[in-house]
Amino acid sequence: MSRQFKEFKASELHCPKCGTSQPVGERASAVPGSQTIELLCFRCATVVGHRTVIDHSLGGKLAKLVGKLLK
Ligand SMILES: [Zn+2]
Repeated sequence: MSRQFKEFKASELHCPKCGTSQPVGERASAVPGSQTIELLCFRCATVVGHRTVIDHSLGGKLAKLVGKLLK
């Protein structure tokens, strides 16, 4: 009797607006070329965090390399 929650792997983050930990939903950042996923509070949709998509493609590797060189 498994429900669809199996796929729902959202973690909980502290939401400053709710004042408590809330489950978060994910939304791709609208910034072009950005690999960032925005984490939104499930209750009030406030952005409570970000995470970077790990890109295993060549472009991602190059970007990482360039980032290292620029540091
Ligand atoms: Zn909230």
